Parts: sequence; C-alpha cells; structure tokens
Amino acid sequence: MTSVSAHNTVPFVDLSWQHDPLQADIIAAMAATLSRGDYVLGQAVSDFEVAFAEACGVAYGVGVGCGTDAIALGLRACGIQSGDEVILPVNTFVATLIGILQIGAKPVFVDCDLDTALIDLAAAEQAITDQTKAIIAVHLYGQMVSPIGLQAIAQRHDLIIFEDAAQAHLGEREDIKAGAIGAGAAFSFYPSKNLGALGDGGMVVTQQESVAQKVRSLRNYGSTRKYFHTDPGGTNSRLDTLQAAVLGLKLPHLSEWNRDRNRLAVYYDQALAPLAQQGIIPIKNVSGSGHVYHLYVVRTTADCRLDRATLQLELSHQNIQTGIHYPTPCHLQPAYQSLGYSAGDFPNAEILSQEILSLPMYPGLTTDQIDRVVGTIRSVLAPEAATV
Ligand SMILES: *Cc1c(COP(=O)(O)O)cnc(C)c1O
Repeated sequence: MTSVSAHNTVPFVDLSWQHDPLQADIIAAMAATLSRGDYVLGQAVSDFEVAFAEACGVAYGVGVGCGTDAIALGLRACGIQSGDEVILPVNTFVATLIGILQIGAKPVFVDCDLDTALIDLAAAEQAITDQTKAIIAVHLYGQMVSPIGLQAIAQRHDLIIFEDAAQAHLGEREDIKAGAIGAGAAFSFYPSKNLGALGDGGMVVTQQESVAQKVRSLRNYGSTRKYFHTDPGGTNSRLDTLQAAVLGLKLPHLSEWNRDRNRLAVYYDQALAPLAQQGIIPIKNVSGSGHVYHLYVVRTTADCRLDRATLQLELSHQNIQTGIHYPTPCHLQPAYQSLGYSAGDFPNAEILSQEILSLPMYPGLTTDQIDRVVGTIRSVLAPEAATV
C-alpha cells in the first residue's frame, strides 16, 4: 500500500478558500467599526439584519448571539410559554432541544424519515396533544422540510410553525425559502455554517412585526427603552457589530457558494451511484437545486461490508476527514434521560445514527478531491481489499 503524504489531505471543512480572498475587506470592515465605535448593536448589525431578511424573502431580521438563542428567543417571541409542548425531530443537533428547554417548554420528540433524515410529518401529527403549541422544522443537512406538508398540519391543528434553519441559509423548497414558512425561524452563523461569522452569531427572521419587536426586546434585557423593562424573559444576546460587518461582506457571495455546494453534491451522487450495490446510499435529495448541502451525508447500510466506524477509520488513514451528524440522537443523550425516553423509541433515527457518515463538503472542494474520496471508499470496500 502506498503512503499518502499530508498535502493530499482532504479536510472535512476548509474555510481558507472563503477567508483568504476576503481578508483585506474583512480587516477594513473591522477597522471601520473600530473608528465608528458602535460596538454593540451598531450600524453593521442593522444593515445586515435588513440585508439577510431580504435575502430570505421575509420582512424582518433580528440579530442575536447564536443560533441556540435564536431558537429560544424566537419561540418565546412567537408566544410559546412554559409548559407548552413543542414537537421536534429527535435526530437534530442538541441546540434545537436546548432552545426549547431554555424557555421552559416541553420537548416532544418524533422520528425521522429513513431516506431524507427529515422529520416524519405523519409521526409529528400523531404526537399532537391538547398541549401542543408548535412544531419545529429542522432543515437538516441543508434540505428543507416540506412547507406544504408543514402548513397542512399546522392549519389542521392550529399550531405555530417555527423553523430551525441553522443548516439551510437560502435553501428553497416548493418555491418557499428557508425562514419564510411559519411564524419565525432561527439561523446560526457559527463559522462552518453556509454563512458563517468569525465566531458566534445568530438571527431570528419573521414576517410579523410583533415577533421582531419582541425579539429585539428579549435580546436586550427585555427592554425597548433604556432602563425600562417590559419583558420578563429578557437576556443579553446580541449579534456582535464586528461579526455583522463580516457577515455583511460574505452575504453577497452566499447564493454562489450554495450553488457550488449543490453542484458538488450532484457530482458526489454520480460518483457514488455504482457503490449503491456495496451498501453506500446518500441521504435522498427531494428538493433538487433548493438543497443547500450544509452537509453531504451517506449511509453505510446493512449491505455494506464494513461498519461505519471501520470505514471512517480507513478513510482517516488515507487522510480523508469525515464527520458524523449526529452519533447519538437527542433522546439517548445522558443529559436528557429525565425526559423519559429510551432506546427503541425512534427506530429510524437510531438506525441512521449508526449508519450516517458526512463526507467533505464546502464550496472550495474540488471534483478531483471528490474523486479521491469516492475512489478511496471504493477501494476500501472492494472485496479483494479484505485481505490487504
Ligand atoms: C448549529 C446549529 C444550531 C445552533 O447554532 P449555534 O449558533 O451553534 O448556537 C441549532 N440547530 C442546528 C440544526 C444547528 O446545526
């Protein structure tokens, strides 16, 4: 076996491709903030709020400290109260759950669809009770939950739809953009998201002025007028002016970056198609070019000669970095055992947590690198490789 040198490493995520060309502009934008001196809720924050809301096709954006706070404050602003039941998919990043718990609401997990890994809307409808107030749609991996399906359920049961769009900036499905389906939506600008800051950041977007006003108050100690506090759920969670300045510089590139992700995913799909016989099955794209591929995820199904852990290890030996999103579904996390769920409650999410593997995906990735990733998977899985 030939040894592979370090320069051949295919990183899981590489941000230098976007930061290197923008470096001079980023430093200039930071210097402008420094000389203006408006460090908290400065001009760059309101400018970026307007620009990002417009890009999402909604009326209002309110910048907050991170995506987790955008979920908590957004839910609260939409009228969710302590004790209300909120439905969410069990196979999400734990922050969705934390946002619900932060406001004292009761999380109700439902299983996901095995092919798309998105929330199973039929299961969601079955989980509705008299206490259910909202359903959170997590647009996992960059693919949106069906707006038509969500709105039908919400109308039948008089529920609030809230989107966790932390992985789906400018995603689209059924002619609706991420963030525009329901009462409000949360975005994260964690550095590796499709639109990322140089640190933490988040935003609530909404069509409703009252929701936007409420988040503006909640993020700022529950006040709209200095030293006069009207909202008891207030906290300190504001998008930094410096981060907003950086995000404002990146936003004009986002559509192109998303198109690149989608194009690379199509390339992966084609390259991986022959490996379906060996049990490697990509998570299904049912939204075409509207899928913004925050992550490109495959399943190592039961037909696969190697289990996920072995495949991941073999790839890392060949300097190909991968990830798992996520290895433990929320209901099996040690921190949340008191919610009363147990293994076996959500079979699809549990199967996926064992099978999924996220392959390198970012706009600067080359098709040569994808060839190397797929070629390495092929050789590792080839029966003759078993004896090497
Ligand atoms: C990243 C992420 C969050 C949390 O965002 P932070 O900015 O890290 O707080 C929430 N939900 C999902 C699905 C995410 O991917």
